Amino acid sequence: MTLKFGVIGTGAIGREHIKRITNNLSGGKIVAVTDVNQESAKSAVEEYGLDAVIYPDDKTLVADANVDAVLVTSWGPAHEQSVLAAIEAGKYVFCEKPLSTTAEGCMRIVEAEMKHGKRLVQVGFMRRYDSGYVQLKEAIDSNYIGEPLMIRCVHRNPEVGDNYTTDMAINDTLIHEIDVLHWLINDDYKSVQVAFPKKTQRAAAHLQDPQLITLETNSGIIITAEVFVNCKYGYDIQCEVIGEDGVAYLPEFSGIATRKAAQFGTSILMDWKQRFIDAYDKELQDFMDSIKNTGEPNGPTSWDGYIAAVTADACVKSQQTGEKEPVALAEKPAFYKNEKEAVKTV
Ligand code: NAP
Repeated sequence: MTLKFGVIGTGAIGREHIKRITNNLSGGKIVAVTDVNQESAKSAVEEYGLDAVIYPDDKTLVADANVDAVLVTSWGPAHEQSVLAAIEAGKYVFCEKPLSTTAEGCMRIVEAEMKHGKRLVQVGFMRRYDSGYVQLKEAIDSNYIGEPLMIRCVHRNPEVGDNYTTDMAINDTLIHEIDVLHWLINDDYKSVQVAFPKKTQRAAAHLQDPQLITLETNSGIIITAEVFVNCKYGYDIQCEVIGEDGVAYLPEFSGIATRKAAQFGTSILMDWKQRFIDAYDKELQDFMDSIKNTGEPNGPTSWDGYIAAVTADACVKSQQTGEKEPVALAEKPAFYKNEKEAVKTV
């Protein structure tokens, strides 16, 4: 079975996903595209030699009977309406983060999916497919390091553009830690607090950088996550889980080691796209394979999109108040309780 995709949004990540589905992965084909900028949709069709219909908007694309699954890769504020339209039409959806820019919007998607009666939606939280995080989860689930007590994380980018704002450190950057960490420890967040350390001279006047976020879970695990998006030296993701019996570290992503001129060293990536390139492939392959094998996607759910939105909102509020803010999640519906854990092999 070939899963026939309609793509909504032919910007940077939309094109990356078109390329991987067309050239690298198996079981999928792009049959339709749309973009608010029709020229962009046309150039994507030409660039990848697609045999695909170009639609004027998301509604006409999801109505195409030839489209089995919709890939939502437009800008964040447009995601919700496209996902709802796809669910309404009974189509599978792979939606890049955010599922919606508001917690209420995510809940509307959760409700629409439950009304439909089976899982249709997977959210593009690709870190769950990264082999390092999968190994970390295995160390936790097998009790190798005992009960997790604390986690220390780092998310550093060499630099960001002038349009990057203080809340984007949460909504665009920390959002990946927010998702992967609750999956890692199988626990929900209870509260969050954001602190602003001494500001780097390299940050734009309007941007607070770095930021230090503390997240506390229901079982009492305390997570500290540093976001530093003008660190200059590289793209650096770190995670250290401190358990009762030992400590587990996310493997370093490094190239060859060299010895030269009295120095021993390895390189650090500068481009974030390279760090999770395998995970992007795996998340989409798993989306296609699990639909083929079980009739439902297996990866991060609409409920995970909702958790991320509520937690991010609490972090942004704490940026403004400086206080510890509660993460007020609704009760998890039974519909999502038996969800299978994403990623079994690496
Ligand atoms: P992008 O290059 O700016 O592409 C966004 C696309 O949305 C463009 O095709 C843009 O059209 C279109 N768009 C602009 N305004 C729109 C509107 N009003 N309604 C509908 N579509 C509109 O951005 P991107 O980097 O591909 O990001 C797209 C999404 O993927 C974002 O939500 C982002 O957070 C997410 N993302 C996720 C990851 C990840 O690690 N999982 C990585 C990158 C991006 P134009 O041609 O007119 O610009």
